[in-house]
Amino acid sequence: MSRKFDVVVIGAGPGGYVAAIRAAQHGMSVACIDEWKNRDGKHAFGGTCLNAGCIPSKAMLESSELYHRAGHEFKKHGIKTGELGLDIAAMQKRRAGIVRQLTGGIAGLFKANKVEGLVGHGKLLAGRKVEFTPDDGDPEILEAKSVILASGSAPIELPFARFDGETIIDSWDALELEAIPERLGVIGAGVIGLELGSVWSRLGSKVTILEAMDDFLFMADRDVANVAARDFKKQGLDIQLGAKVTAAKAGKKGVKVEYDDKAGSHAIEVDKLIVAVGRKPYTEGLLADDAGIQLDDRGFIVVDEDCRTRVKGVFAVGDSVRGPMLAHKSSEEGVMAADLIAGEIAEVNYNVIPSVIYTAPEIAWVGKTEAEVKESGRPYKKGSFPFAANGRAKAMEQTTGMVKIISAEDDDEVLGVHIVGPMAGELISEAVLALEFSASTEDIQRTIHAHPSLAESIHEAALAVDKRALNYMN
Ligand code: FAD
Ligand code: NAD
Repeated sequence: MSRKFDVVVIGAGPGGYVAAIRAAQHGMSVACIDEWKNRDGKHAFGGTCLNAGCIPSKAMLESSELYHRAGHEFKKHGIKTGELGLDIAAMQKRRAGIVRQLTGGIAGLFKANKVEGLVGHGKLLAGRKVEFTPDDGDPEILEAKSVILASGSAPIELPFARFDGETIIDSWDALELEAIPERLGVIGAGVIGLELGSVWSRLGSKVTILEAMDDFLFMADRDVANVAARDFKKQGLDIQLGAKVTAAKAGKKGVKVEYDDKAGSHAIEVDKLIVAVGRKPYTEGLLADDAGIQLDDRGFIVVDEDCRTRVKGVFAVGDSVRGPMLAHKSSEEGVMAADLIAGEIAEVNYNVIPSVIYTAPEIAWVGKTEAEVKESGRPYKKGSFPFAANGRAKAMEQTTGMVKIISAEDDDEVLGVHIVGPMAGELISEAVLALEFSASTEDIQRTIHAHPSLAESIHEAALAVDKRALNYMN
């Protein structure tokens, strides 16, 4: 006899595990199937985000940033440390420990919420049945009233630079390196290229990043991208724009990478090459031929704005469906799917999803860039405020960057907030809330911000929109 559940979720990344917990909170019986295995061969819930993405990358960014600051800033603060050294094994042990704690935490949350966590492979069959194959057992059929697919994504491989796990590597391998490569190449100056390039550059690698596009961070506001580009250059990150990589050959001494740009053909040699040119939806072995789910031409599961597939009662969320590949977007879709299954009203506001790049300076934004607002034809006004004029930033010795706000000329609505600077990823939350509530610039202007705080820069930028900044010449 097959086991029956109200909801079966396939995938326990931030999309799937959150959906499972939310569905259980609604009083439904829930199973969540996940097959992720870490390099030690052990299973862990949490998907890419917790095991090989958001969390381990932020652990390494923090450690490398502290090392960099100890070497470059402590002296200014009057702190003497003696000879500075690195213990990569200890750094990696800390990263692995954080991952273990958080992924173990999901197993605990499943237990507390009475979600049945099933380790193994899940496959959607016709009629809302799911075939569950445990790691070391026979397949079992689960019957579900509703199914949520949350199978995530995988790195895109370039045909001329295949991953070998040793010298040509993906972001997961790049997070777990046991030694600092002397020369590190990265293909792609996107979010992963910049974050992981920063980690290893701070720890001592000579980093070259090859980016196909002519514009740096084409998806970000130009003013913010320009500040970031200048600072990354100062830090020693060699970012080559308009660089079309044509070949990457791994040999005994590393990798020879060839690329073309406007100036001609070039070749560089590196010890490791990270390929970070985007990710693709992952649906291998997920769908039986007669499951009825439609994939688009890029392999994404086709869903409507409520994350419903064309099969009644089957939803899909996260990286395997359209929209930005971000953990918080996946989780919100998981919550929406579970709420809709429970018969509640739910939606995701796709216009208000924050983006954060955890480099130093950090880069964060929400809403429209100035170019997008210009293109929309809506008359706008804008204001910005530099961290160099912010007391807290000065005290922190972190004065690079600024806050920029773009608002509608007609009704004063805030349309976009762009930050490059210290703690931008934390500061952006205020802007997200403002956009979620359709706040006006005046709303932010009249909101009291604690002094001294980095957030005062948001206040001042809002004042600057109407040429009323108090601590800076407008
Ligand atoms: P995933 O997290 O990929 O989870 C899918 C899970 O489903 C996996 O465990 C997989 O093994 C399992 N699965 C797949 N198919 C099956 C099957 N048939 N049966 C059983 N199990 C299956 N995003 C941010 O918002 N902030 C960040 O700072 C950030 N940093 C990142 C850093 C790196 C290096 C990378 C690679 C990504 C980062 N991301 C970040 C992106 C983020 O990790 C993803 O957007 C997020 O993990 C997507 O969640 P998901 O639940 O859709 O999929
Ligand atoms: P990305 O889309 O951010 O960047 C890929 C970059 O590679 C782009 O700039 C693209 O122009 C370039 N590129 C593509 N093909 C190329 C080629 N052949 N040669 C040279 N350059 C090429 O993708 P990513 O950095 O791989 O990250 C994957 C996903 O993971 C992203 O969607 C991102 O949202 C997510 N992620 C998010 C965070 C975060 O939120 N902080 C961190 C890491 C990853």
